[in-house]
Amino acid sequence: MATRNILVLNCGSSSLKFALLSQAHSTPLLAGQAERLAGPQATLHWWQAANIRQRRELPGADHRAALQALLPLVEAACGGGLHGIGHRVVHGGEQFTQSCLIDARTLAAIRETVPLAPLHNPANLLGIETALALFPDLPQVAVFDTAFHQSMPEHAYRYAIPERFYREHGVRRYGFHGTSHRYVGRRAAEITGLSPGDSCWLSAHLGNGCSTCAIVDGQSRDTSMGLTPLEGLVMGTRSGDVDPNLHSHLARTLGWSLTEIDHLLNSESGLLGLSGLSNDMRNLEQERARGHRQATLAIEVFCYRLAKSLAALFCALPRLDGAIFTGGIGENSPLVRARTVAHMGLLGLVVDETANARCVGGVSGAINAPGHPRLLVIPTNEEQQIALDTLALLDSSAS
Ligand code: AMP
Repeated sequence: MATRNILVLNCGSSSLKFALLSQAHSTPLLAGQAERLAGPQATLHWWQAANIRQRRELPGADHRAALQALLPLVEAACGGGLHGIGHRVVHGGEQFTQSCLIDARTLAAIRETVPLAPLHNPANLLGIETALALFPDLPQVAVFDTAFHQSMPEHAYRYAIPERFYREHGVRRYGFHGTSHRYVGRRAAEITGLSPGDSCWLSAHLGNGCSTCAIVDGQSRDTSMGLTPLEGLVMGTRSGDVDPNLHSHLARTLGWSLTEIDHLLNSESGLLGLSGLSNDMRNLEQERARGHRQATLAIEVFCYRLAKSLAALFCALPRLDGAIFTGGIGENSPLVRARTVAHMGLLGLVVDETANARCVGGVSGAINAPGHPRLLVIPTNEEQQIALDTLALLDSSAS
């Protein structure tokens, strides 16, 4: 079969990220993003194999105009041979347990999920509808952040609130970052020579958003995010877990509205809130090295809470074949990895300092001390996983 090319799209409310992947190359033929869409400063940035960055102003461009501007670049990069489009969709509710080909039924089901992800799914839908209009003859696939976690057992996904909120309103834990956890879980098995269908992993995806996941035999058994991506770990600007009574406390004592509290917990908290400086781990590490007290505290809280979450997920595992660090922080911060693992000595986890220092900037490898459980650094690649899912569905629909 000839080499096939897949365009991966990730549509936000004012942005459109894209990557063109080819079966013949390990790196994207073309990648980039359109941002500030529908505004006067809309811009398209892209880079190609040689990594030369280019940009074009697209004043006032919406998602459709941005995709249209992208078309000639895609055609030039893949010689006109585009075989499918894979779309990242944040929320698949309980309807989607895996990626699927997009048709009228899928579209209707994604629309039904909008109340669960009012910020993300409408933008994802916009991307799909725009791409369907521009490429009506091309197979298109939806890949859901939540789908991987649909294998969680009920005792892991239910909240301890009355059943009717689950039955009538879908209030349960869904989990996110599933495409990343699935990708690194599979890579961990490949790297260690274990079978993906017979191996047990803890995975920590640490980027701007952060989550942990227990992966047993290729399936998610529990994860730290819940109904929304706010639950769980400390993140860049998100608080992660707080006492649920914080809402009523702030409303009572400060007279705050739900919108104000939402904004506080999603956009002003996490590393940014604790440090008072930045949501970017690089900045915090620099300031910590200069002795900044709040930056130091932010990193300590981040690592302790991460260790606590990983330790809790031991309950979901029959055994541990290894813990995986991924995402911008997980792949690049020996400090965060070492501080986190230092809290887990009782569970036998110990970092090898030299190996830990070596695994940065896309270098993968084992960072555990000899004789201790595996600790792996594995760069994630959600775009590649979306392209692989798209190719698999193209194959199964052709057979
Ligand atoms: P992501 O969302 O996966 O792109 O990850 C973004 C996060 O990765 C930000 O908090 C960055 O500060 C962090 N990050 C990227 N490079 C480094 C680095 N060299 N050291 C520490 N954190 C990093």
